[in-house]
Amino acid sequence: MRDLLLELSRRPAARALVRRLGLPLPLPQVLERTREPYGERPLEGRRILVGGALRGEVGAVLARSLFAAGADVVANRRAQVFEGPAEAWARRLDPLEALAEGEHVDGLVFDGTGLEDPAALRWLYDFFHPNLGRLRPCGRVVLLGRPATSAASPAAGAAKRALEGFVRSLAKEIGRRGSTAQLLVVEEGAEPRLPAALRFFLGARSAFVTAQSVPITTKARAAADDRAARPLEGRVALVTGAARGIGAATVEQLATEGAKVVCLDRPEDEALCAEVARAHDGVVMLQDLAESDAPDRVADALAVLGGADVIVHNAGVTRDKTLARMSPAQWELVLAVNLAAVVRLTERVLERELLRDGGRVVCLSSVAGIAGNFGQTNYAASKAGVIGYVQALAPLLADRGITVNAVAPGFIETRLTGAMPVAIREVARRLSALGQGGRPEDVAQLVTFLATPGAQGVTGALLRVCGGAFVGA
Ligand code: NAD
Repeated sequence: MRDLLLELSRRPAARALVRRLGLPLPLPQVLERTREPYGERPLEGRRILVGGALRGEVGAVLARSLFAAGADVVANRRAQVFEGPAEAWARRLDPLEALAEGEHVDGLVFDGTGLEDPAALRWLYDFFHPNLGRLRPCGRVVLLGRPATSAASPAAGAAKRALEGFVRSLAKEIGRRGSTAQLLVVEEGAEPRLPAALRFFLGARSAFVTAQSVPITTKARAAADDRAARPLEGRVALVTGAARGIGAATVEQLATEGAKVVCLDRPEDEALCAEVARAHDGVVMLQDLAESDAPDRVADALAVLGGADVIVHNAGVTRDKTLARMSPAQWELVLAVNLAAVVRLTERVLERELLRDGGRVVCLSSVAGIAGNFGQTNYAASKAGVIGYVQALAPLLADRGITVNAVAPGFIETRLTGAMPVAIREVARRLSALGQGGRPEDVAQLVTFLATPGAQGVTGALLRVCGGAFVGA
């Protein structure tokens, strides 16, 4: 679906004209994205300014991972963790020194794990205030914190939780320039699980993910190595609703990272589904998930393939009506496909031991499931139910190294949103930090990250890919 403001934004002459005439048009920033496969050095050439405590295990992992990913690091002169074996680990600045006039950075990283009382929060201001203006468009901000629940005192709890409010607000301020901000909440002991998250959230793959608080935990038992390149080599992934939209984009990215993908969609979408599967060397599975025997049939087919490592529950439908006008069939279908099928299929696959240790379950929720939406009582109930399911299932599978997460897209340009009335569509696009809709591949990027071995620390989480939509938590 065309976005005229975004198209205008792509033309420098049009941007300049809008600025000269002082037109009140919020021209969104064209986002930088990548379709390149995962590589060893995704941050090659990116200048990252690092500040904060930079001590202990967090600091050491940060230094090692930024260096290994190819970043050009500028760090605080006192940050000893950057005095590694390689001399070129970082360029040094004095603690309160800002970058030189005209010098730009691609990312700002702040280690806030040492913030133990409200007075210490002043560090945030001292680091970000002088340097924020140096962040170039489509830049990245990543803060590292600790869970407030593990705080040694109530005052420490206050300081830890303050980071979340800071990040969510900063994301809104920098979104107009296409930049994003996230908080990685690192449990004690989960530091070795940080590198893949740093690569993802500091790179171009997280273009439409912003204002998220991402838990990095020790909950799921370690299962496999974090390989930066071809992380899904040799794995089998099932994607439901694979014929189009977010599902088709997910098939493409999982396959690009080495997975053999089983593409499931309804029998009436055979031609489209087969096309997607053929393009990515996948396998077609035709099944209407609303049918009562669907879980058995899918499990039978997976058994023939020897089981799966990744399951992406993406198939979804809407049947919008106010509750007063909604037919029983509209209620039933949405709950059956979006929620009951997710629960029943997962249960059957687990009962029959078809999901391997170290596996991944990713469920598509929605911002509507967080905030609710007029005319979507059925849809929002189903998508909120998915979040509850993920939170309850994750601890049960943690011992086997299996992670279970929910991804909540906001406004993504697909046929689902293309069917909206024009005015509502326009408002939905603009009411977000990034001021535009996302693309199916933006959701696919987050799903693929969660499917990789490197995302072992993220489980039971709800992550939004919504461009910082103003609705919902
Ligand atoms: P889409 O309509 O383009 O694709 C959904 C796919 O699911 C289709 O190929 C469809 O045939 C398949 N499907 C539907 N019912 C099925 C059934 N009974 N059995 C098997 N397959 C079935 O939708 P999309 O925009 O790509 O959305 C994908 C997921 O993301 C959905 O769960 C949706 O609720 C969620 N989501 C999308 C958006 C958005 O803005 N597009 C926002 C929030 C959440």
